[in-house]
Amino acid sequence: QSPLLDVRNLEKVYHLNSGLLQRIARQPALNLRAVDKVSFSVNAGETLGLIGESGCGKSTLARTVLRLHEPTSGSITFDGRDITKLPHREMTALRRRMQIIFQDPYASLNPRKSVEEIVGLPLSLHRIAQRSEIRDRVVAMLESVGLKSSHLGRFPHQFSGGQRQRIGIARALILNPSFVVCDEPVSALDVSVQAQIIALLGSLKRELGLTYLFISHDIGVIGHVSDRIAVMYLGDIVEIGPARELLRAPQHPYTRALLSAVPQIDAGPKRERVKLSGDLPSPLAPPPGCKFHTRCPFAVERCRQETPALRKVAGQGMVACHLEQA
Ligand code: SF4
Ligand code: MG
Repeated sequence: QSPLLDVRNLEKVYHLNSGLLQRIARQPALNLRAVDKVSFSVNAGETLGLIGESGCGKSTLARTVLRLHEPTSGSITFDGRDITKLPHREMTALRRRMQIIFQDPYASLNPRKSVEEIVGLPLSLHRIAQRSEIRDRVVAMLESVGLKSSHLGRFPHQFSGGQRQRIGIARALILNPSFVVCDEPVSALDVSVQAQIIALLGSLKRELGLTYLFISHDIGVIGHVSDRIAVMYLGDIVEIGPARELLRAPQHPYTRALLSAVPQIDAGPKRERVKLSGDLPSPLAPPPGCKFHTRCPFAVERCRQETPALRKVAGQGMVACHLEQA
C-alpha cells in the first residue's frame, strides 16, 4: 500500500530580520528552522497523531504540507503526485482534497458571515455547485456535524465554542476532502465539549473515509485518536510508531517525559518516570547535537556533539536517540 501523503526531508526555515533592520542595525540574520528535515507518511484511512509542546513546529509542519506555507526544501507527495512545486492554481484545485480544521474556530470564522455563507463559500469558490444546490449541500453538511437547518442564517457569535467548531468542521468537509489536518481542534474547548468533538471527528472519519493528521499538545487526546503517533521536538520528529506500542513502551526520553506527565492508563509494564528539566530552548538557537540534550536526564557527551538520526527499533517504531535501549 502506498501512503496517501509522503513527506521527505521537509524543511521550513524563516529568515528573520534579514531586510532593512539588518542593514541599519547590522544585526546578523536569524534563521528559524521551524521544521528541520522531517520525513513521515500517512496511510489512507489512518490517523497520524502529531504531538509536541507549543512552538515545536507542529502547525508549521502541517501548513507546509498543505503548502499554505512554502517549503524551503524537501518533498511532499500526495496520492502519488509530487506537489512540492505544484503551481498555485493547481494547488488551489487540489486543496479540495486537502483541508484543515483550525484550533480556534472563532478566529477562523468570519463574524459578519452567516453559517450558510461560511459553509457554502468553498463550494462557490471552487465552482462545484450551482447556487440552487449550495443550500441543500450546506444543510446536509450541517446535519452531519450535528447542527440544524435552522442555524443557516445565524452568525458565529450566536454559537457556543463547540458549535463553532462544528461549523469549522462543516466548512472543511463540504468539499469532500480525503485528507484533513486537524490542528488542535479541541484545545480551545471545555473538556466536556472536547469529548463530543473528538467523537464527531471519529464518526465522520469512518463515514467519509477520511485520513487525518491530528495535531495536539495533549498526549491524552493524541493517545485516544491516533493509529500512529509522531513526537515532535524543536522541528524534528524524535519518535514515530504505532500508537499502542508507543504509549505502552515509549522509547525516546522526550516521549517518556510526555507520558510521565499523565497517569499510566494501560496495563503495560510500569514505566519509570522521566522528568523534564528546564524550558524549551529557543528554536532560534537550538542546542547542537541532540536538540533535547539540555533537558534530557540521560544525556552523555556524545549527545552534545552528534545529532541522532531516526532509526528503527524493536517493534515497528523509529526513534532518534543515541541510547542503546532506546
Ligand atoms: Fe537524551 Fe542523548 Fe537520547 Fe538525546 S540522544 S534523547 S540527549 S540520551
Ligand atoms: Mg500550533
